[in-house]
Amino acid sequence: MSVDLPQEQLAKLVASFMSYSAGHLPDDVKARLAQMKETENEGFAPDIYNVMEKNMQLAHSLGRPSCQDTGIPQFFARVGSKWPYMDIIEDALIDAVREATAKAPLRPNAVEVFDEVNTGNNIGTHSPWIDWEIVKDSDVLELYFYMAGGGCSLPGFSKVLMPLEGYDGIAKAVFEQMTTYGVNACPPCLVGIGIAGSSEVAAKLSKKALLRQVGSHNPNPKAAEMEKLIEDGLNSIGLGPGGFGGKLSVMGVNIEQASRHPATLAMGMSTACWAHRRAGIRINPDFTYDLFTHKGAVL
Ligand code: SF4
Repeated sequence: MSVDLPQEQLAKLVASFMSYSAGHLPDDVKARLAQMKETENEGFAPDIYNVMEKNMQLAHSLGRPSCQDTGIPQFFARVGSKWPYMDIIEDALIDAVREATAKAPLRPNAVEVFDEVNTGNNIGTHSPWIDWEIVKDSDVLELYFYMAGGGCSLPGFSKVLMPLEGYDGIAKAVFEQMTTYGVNACPPCLVGIGIAGSSEVAAKLSKKALLRQVGSHNPNPKAAEMEKLIEDGLNSIGLGPGGFGGKLSVMGVNIEQASRHPATLAMGMSTACWAHRRAGIRINPDFTYDLFTHKGAVL
């Protein structure tokens, strides 16, 4: 009997994890959508939430992705310094993307810039995108997988403000973006905001903010207050589910920050759609796992 090598074991596990997360929204997102549905009782909004619910049921029973746009695959890896297979992670993730694209199936979305050719398997230059963090004194590989769809990536941007523009300037930019492009992101959206000293750090933090639990709060009370103010404000613009109008337009607003330069106030914004397919898994050295965003899920 042949035994799979670690790279094959990891690739198979991650491919199953990707396929599962394509068709099953995480627990916190499902709970928030159910809660939001209860708030809507006028116009098209209740029907849109019913369609979303039906969509989730069918994705589960048919074993299909929740949305035809399965996005550009992105991984956020937090690798324990004592996880024994550091060398094979990147190759295993690429193998996993190839396998999941064929089997799930996932829509091939990787278009090579300048050549303007779709690679056909979601693998290309820096695709899958992999973000790395080392976690000291840990032997666990923690992986977040995120499907960066086209519509939900569209409102994303980053820029550096003059510090005098202040936190009001950040809020203003978020509102301008959401009232212009928010409807493309299939609301209700989760809005991630990063604040830092340079645009690339702010942009990255804004995406990491989307990995945070829906309904969680920034531990800094002033940041948490800003999350709440922007959330309440965005909920008053009337986008509603699917952009068809309603009382609520966002699942929440998550802010992440890094120290800034005294002369710069950089901000980044990323949005996730109602089909917020982000999934997290902890993988032990013996390849046992815990899919912590989807309680009780077995791959
Ligand atoms: S924004 Fe989300 S739900 Fe809408 S088409 Fe894109 S991936 Fe699908």
